[in-house]
Amino acid sequence: MFNRRTFLKTTATALPMAGAFDIFEPGFALSAETIATAAVSGDTPNLIPLPQRLAPVDLASEPWQQRIRRVGQSNMTEHDPAVMNVEEWASYWHSARADIVFVSVTGILAFYPSKVKFHRHGQFLNGRDFFGECVAAAKKRGMRVVARMSPDLNWGDALEAHPDWAMRNKDGSVQYSGEEPRLFKTCMFSAYMDDYVSAIMREINSLYDIDCFYTNGWPPIGSLPECYCAICSKLPPTDTSEYWRVFNDRVFELWSKYDSIAKEKKPDSFFFANLGGNVHPGPSLDRIGKLAVWFQADNQGRTYDDPAIWGCTLQSRACNAVLDGKFSANVAAAYSTGIVRWRNASKNPAEAKMWMNEALAGGMALYYHFIGSEDGLGEDRRWQKVGADYFRWAAKYDAHLTTRRSIANIGVVMGQSTQLLYKGPAMAHSRQYMRETTHGLYEMLLSGRFAFDFVHEDRLESERLSRYRALLLPNIAMLSTRQCQQVRDYVQSGGSIMASFETGLYDENLKQRGDFGLSDLLGISKAGDVVGTTGNAYYGRIERQHPILAGFTNTNWIPGAQNRVPLKPVAEPVLTVVPGFVQYPPELAYPPVSHTAEPAVVLREIGHSRTAYFPGDIERTWWLTGHGDLLRLLHNTIRWITRDEKIVHVQGEGFVEIFAWETAPGYSVHVLNYTNPNSHHGWLQSVYPLGPQAVSMRLPTGVKVESVELLHAERTVPFRLEGELLHFIIPSVDDCEVAAITAG
Ligand SMILES: [Zn+2]
Repeated sequence: MFNRRTFLKTTATALPMAGAFDIFEPGFALSAETIATAAVSGDTPNLIPLPQRLAPVDLASEPWQQRIRRVGQSNMTEHDPAVMNVEEWASYWHSARADIVFVSVTGILAFYPSKVKFHRHGQFLNGRDFFGECVAAAKKRGMRVVARMSPDLNWGDALEAHPDWAMRNKDGSVQYSGEEPRLFKTCMFSAYMDDYVSAIMREINSLYDIDCFYTNGWPPIGSLPECYCAICSKLPPTDTSEYWRVFNDRVFELWSKYDSIAKEKKPDSFFFANLGGNVHPGPSLDRIGKLAVWFQADNQGRTYDDPAIWGCTLQSRACNAVLDGKFSANVAAAYSTGIVRWRNASKNPAEAKMWMNEALAGGMALYYHFIGSEDGLGEDRRWQKVGADYFRWAAKYDAHLTTRRSIANIGVVMGQSTQLLYKGPAMAHSRQYMRETTHGLYEMLLSGRFAFDFVHEDRLESERLSRYRALLLPNIAMLSTRQCQQVRDYVQSGGSIMASFETGLYDENLKQRGDFGLSDLLGISKAGDVVGTTGNAYYGRIERQHPILAGFTNTNWIPGAQNRVPLKPVAEPVLTVVPGFVQYPPELAYPPVSHTAEPAVVLREIGHSRTAYFPGDIERTWWLTGHGDLLRLLHNTIRWITRDEKIVHVQGEGFVEIFAWETAPGYSVHVLNYTNPNSHHGWLQSVYPLGPQAVSMRLPTGVKVESVELLHAERTVPFRLEGELLHFIIPSVDDCEVAAITAG
C-alpha cells in the first residue's frame, strides 16, 4: 500500500529531505517529477488505455429529466395543510437549488378537493387546494413538480364497496396495515390499480400543470407480495420463478398504462414508480430498465439489518447495470432511518452527507428527503442546512458531477433471480444468504480497489461484456442455458471469469441440474451434494505454487469456506480439500483425513482467457469471518485472471470506494473514505481523514489535460501527462474527494 511514509521514502531521492517532509503541507507546490515518481512507486500497475471519448451530448434532443441534478422532497402529512408554510417550503428548496420537488396528491388521502370516489380528503384540508398551492409556489420559482401518489393502502368505505380490492391472507381475511389497522392493503392485481389510480391521474392532469407522476408504495421492493385474493389464488405460488414472471407482466402492464395516461396531457410527461432494493428488487431490473426514464432508488439510509456503509453505491451499481445512462436518483433521508425511527428528527450530518457523496459517486442525482412540516417547516430544522449546503456545493460542479460512462474493467454478474428466489444450500437456507454473499464480494472488491460494474444476468450480450477483462460470478446459482452460452462465448472471445460455489447449478426456474451449467468451461464436475460445516470448516491444502497463492508462506494449508460442492479430482490441483472435522472438544480438533484429491480451486487457461472456480461459498465466508487469507486468495485470483490489468489506479492508505467516470468536460475520479469505526455499525459520527492518494490512468490517444481540480477541497492540483499516462495526487481525503479532470 502507498502511504505517507512510503511516499516520503520513495520520493526522498527526487527531493531534498526537508522538501519531502513538507510536500503535503498547505501551500507547497508539487513538482511534476514528484507526482510521477510517487504515482508509479508502489505496485506497478499494468494500465490499459481508456476507450475513445464519446461524442458530445446533443442537448436539444435530451429529455428534460436528464438535466435534473437535485430533487427536493418534504413528504407531506395529513396535518401539513394545517401547519406547513407553503412559501417557506418552496423558498427553502429553491434556495437549495433544487430542480424539482415532490408534491403529494396521494391516493390514501387527497391533498386537493378530489372528486374521485373513495379518495378521502385529509381531515385538515377543509376544502383547500393544498396541492395546487404547492404546485403554484414551486412553479413560481422555476422548479418542476412531481405529482406523488400512494396506491398501496385505502380505507374501510372503499373496502366495503370493493372487497375485491384488498390483499387477502390464506384464510381469506383482509390484510391490513401493521401500524394503522383502519387501512387495508390493496392488491396490485385488482381493478383498484386499473380504475382508482387511473382516475386520480386523469383528475390531476385535468386540474394542474405538473411535470410527471410517481407512485410510492408500489411496486413492492425487496420481496414479492403474498396475496390470496380471488385473482392471486389462481396465480402460481409466490417466491417461484413462475410467479415472478406474472408479477413482472403486471408491473409492466400498469407502468405502461400509467405512463400513457401521464402523456395524455403532455408528451414529455411520464410515470415512474418506487424502486430500490439494490441487487434483489421485486421487479425485473432488465424489464424496468427498458421502461423507466426515472429510476427512483428508495434506498434512504442504513439500517441495523443491512448496516454496510456502501448501501447507496450498491444501489447505484444495480441501476447502472440496466439504465444505459438514463436518469436515476437515490433518496437520501434527512430524517432518522433505521430499526428505531424518528421520521421527524434529523440524522447525523456526517451520515447524511456520505449518502449524498455515494449517490454522486455512483452516477445518480441528489435527492434529499424529510417528512412532515410541523410548525411551518419542521420542529427539527437542523437537516435543512446540511442539505442546502450540499446541494449548493454540488450545483457549482454539475458538469463534472454528471456522469456519462463508467470506467471499469471488471464486470460482476448480478443474478437477480438468484437473489430473489434462491435461498442458499439446505444447511444454510436463509433470506440473508445471498445478501451475505453480495456484501462479501463488495467489500473484497473495495479493499482491492478494483474498478468494477455490475452486469445484469439478462444483459450478457457480447457487446456489453466485451469492455470487461474479467467477469465475476459470485454464486450465481441460477443461469439459463442461454446465459451459460453467453458466458462461454465471452470466454471464447478472450474474457476471463471467476466463479464460486453453486454457480450455474440451477436453471432459470431454480431446477437443479445434474452437473454445473458451466462444467465444460470451468473443467469441473460435481461429485456429490453440498457439504456444510459442523464444527471446524474445511481447509485448502497447498499442492503446488501458483500466483493465486502469492504471499502464503510458512503454512501447508489455508482456510476454505463454510459450505462447498464436492468436485471430482482434476489434474495438477493447486489446492485440495482437507475435510472439516470436530472443533470441540479440542482433543478431537484434528483432521482424520488430512489429504484428499478433491480440488479446493480449479484454474484453467484457454488461449488469452483464464478461469478460476472455487467450490466453496468463499465471498460469503469472507463476509462472515473477515479472514484475511480468503481476502488475499480472492485478490490474487482476480489479479491472475485479469493479468493484473487496471483501467484506473488509485494508490494510498485507507479503506475506500472508488468510482471513475467519463464526463462531458473530461473524467472524474471519486474517492469515498469508509475508513471509519462506523462503517459497519450505526451512523458516521465524524470523519477520519486519509493521506495522499496517487491516481494514474492511461488516456485515449490525443487527449490532453487542461486541469485537475479537487471539487471538495475546491482547488486545482498539479498533474503530469507522460504520453497518454496521466498521474496526479489527491493530497488528502476527508469524507470524500472528487478529482475532476478537464480534457484540453
Ligand atoms: Zn391479490
